[in-house]
Amino acid sequence: MNWINKFKKLGESIKRNINKKFPTKSERESSAWTSCCKGPILKTDLKENLFVCPQCNKHHRISPSQRFEIIGFSNYEILKTPIPKDDPLDWVDTKSYKDRLKDARKKTNQDCAVVIAKGKLKGIDVTVGATNFEFIGGSSGAAETEAIIYGVQYAIDNKTPFIFFPCGGGQRMFESPIALAGMTKTTLAINELKKNNLPYLVCFTDPTAGGITASFAMLGDIQYSEPGALIAFAGRRVVQATVKEELPLDFQTAEFLLKHGFVDRIVERKNLGDEIGKILSILLNKNSELDLKNNEQTSELSIKTREAS
Ligand SMILES: [Zn+2]
Repeated sequence: MNWINKFKKLGESIKRNINKKFPTKSERESSAWTSCCKGPILKTDLKENLFVCPQCNKHHRISPSQRFEIIGFSNYEILKTPIPKDDPLDWVDTKSYKDRLKDARKKTNQDCAVVIAKGKLKGIDVTVGATNFEFIGGSSGAAETEAIIYGVQYAIDNKTPFIFFPCGGGQRMFESPIALAGMTKTTLAINELKKNNLPYLVCFTDPTAGGITASFAMLGDIQYSEPGALIAFAGRRVVQATVKEELPLDFQTAEFLLKHGFVDRIVERKNLGDEIGKILSILLNKNSELDLKNNEQTSELSIKTREAS
């Protein structure tokens, strides 16, 4: 047995023991314990370490509010984003989509998977968005699309940078083509942000996949990632079956994407706030010579100059 299988077997045995002790999902969620590489770990200990395992450095999934707190996003205010009609396709499989939405809202206390907020990061006015994986796997439907567009528009109207922490499995299948249309809409929204010369920073969190990776989440001026995050379009098995080649062990990890130029920097959670604050101060100082608030006039002027010549 090689070390990968040994490690996998150990993980499965830890999970089995925890599941035995707390047989139902709600019992596991309300227990004081969770699991990582070395076995059970107290949720309070994990929280103290910013939800990062002190042994293996695994960056566990966190909610948007925990994220905002950790990066030092001070006195933020959550913006009310538009909520389109629920369940436009009247979707039912093993459960109705309406019930899934109801459960997700109750569990997360959010209207949709994406949260948009305004506030200050290291003294700089910013608009920040984050996805909650606990809301139907962070998948993206019409409401999430509207939330992202709203966030971008807010950033444009208030001349702030836009920072986003994506995660999720992709476009939400219960909304089928409506969810897919969100890929184009969010891409167009980011283009508008760029036309206004406003910085757009993305930090991948685990896992970011499917249509989320293939649209707004891959368009940052700087692409950060937390260590070890899974970042993919199609799943590993699908890719392997298509290319018919053995894929490297670290395929679709943040570290693999860094080597291949899809990620610019991998930053530990504890350093993310400082890192983003520093880069924003550089980007905005550069822009301050032109004065961000006068950018519209500047670009109008350059268009007129081009037209005249
Ligand atoms: Zn661990």
